[in-house]
Amino acid sequence: MRDARIRFDTRSDFFTDLKGRVDAYFDTSGESRRGNLRMYLKTATIMGWWLSAWVAFLVLDVGYLGAVALAVVMGGGMAGIGMSVMHDGGHKAYADGRRLNALMSWGLDLMGGSAYIWNHKHNVQHHTYPNVVGSDDDVDLGPLARLAPESPRYALHRFQHLYMWPLYGLITIKWHWIDDFYQLARGRIGEHAFPRPKGTDAVVFWVGKLVFFSWALIIPILVKPVGLAVTFYLVAQMVQGVVLAITFQMAHCVEEAAYFEAPADGKPVTLDFARHQLATTIDFATTNRFATWYMGGLNFQAIHHLFPRICHVHYPALSAIVRETARDHGVPYSPTPSVRAALGSHYRWLKALGTTDEVVAPARAPAVPA
Ligand SMILES: [Zn+2]
Repeated sequence: MRDARIRFDTRSDFFTDLKGRVDAYFDTSGESRRGNLRMYLKTATIMGWWLSAWVAFLVLDVGYLGAVALAVVMGGGMAGIGMSVMHDGGHKAYADGRRLNALMSWGLDLMGGSAYIWNHKHNVQHHTYPNVVGSDDDVDLGPLARLAPESPRYALHRFQHLYMWPLYGLITIKWHWIDDFYQLARGRIGEHAFPRPKGTDAVVFWVGKLVFFSWALIIPILVKPVGLAVTFYLVAQMVQGVVLAITFQMAHCVEEAAYFEAPADGKPVTLDFARHQLATTIDFATTNRFATWYMGGLNFQAIHHLFPRICHVHYPALSAIVRETARDHGVPYSPTPSVRAALGSHYRWLKALGTTDEVVAPARAPAVPA
């Protein structure tokens, strides 16, 4: 699971200073590091958003146009549950209690994924090794896309800046029809082995699949004409997939983000944890209040990578602290100004990687001699 060639040093002056200032912020404000009333209200709003679109589809007499419109609304709500509810639960940042965090993380099972597999893929691989080629599954879409300068380029990639957008829409369908079962059967995510779920984890996995397929497909098919029900399911999944994929890509797969490749000679290398996270993860649209509410702070993904156990409602405040501390230590931290600018950067990065071998990522995450 762990890449023995890469170690992270969390004791740099910069990170020590930063953690001290963040501690001082919570001490003086008296706020909890986990969720607060705002977070609970938001959870209810987003869950209601998803559920009301689903109920509306079942009870209203809608045709294909109405089904598509409701599916777009529902898909947006489903992505919101992933980004703003389960993500914090999965990181144990939603609440202090273990049970409430687990319950919120199961929001992913309700949406068709698996909190158990996600925990291994996201918490262990992605968070430990963002943009480390070969260790971060998020930057590996196989031969379909070239997302990092160190990955091989094929003729097909010439068009990836065009065809990736609709393909993003298939991501969640691939998760719940193929990946979760395939990875569970193999006991591996990519090259990384993970223990098979036992006890509660196994029950949640299988009951979660049953509940998801029931509400997403079986009940709509029983209540509505099959074509209409399947259209509703497909469009909602496409919307959810595109929103989730693009949100992650805008933070990691952009011109501004650095990539790191473990040395081929197999010699271990030690990286400065905080500098690596800030170099490989780019915040965006930090002043956009709707983006911040809806994406659950994933537009503050660099902050999230530095402080994954702090609930995302605090990220705007922490971003100001990171900005100040980074400036004092000469560490680059410059969020992309808007969603539009981040989307543009992702588009240009896909195009550059697809058309030339010359492109080099910006200054690589700094290595600290072991
Ligand atoms: Zn995360």
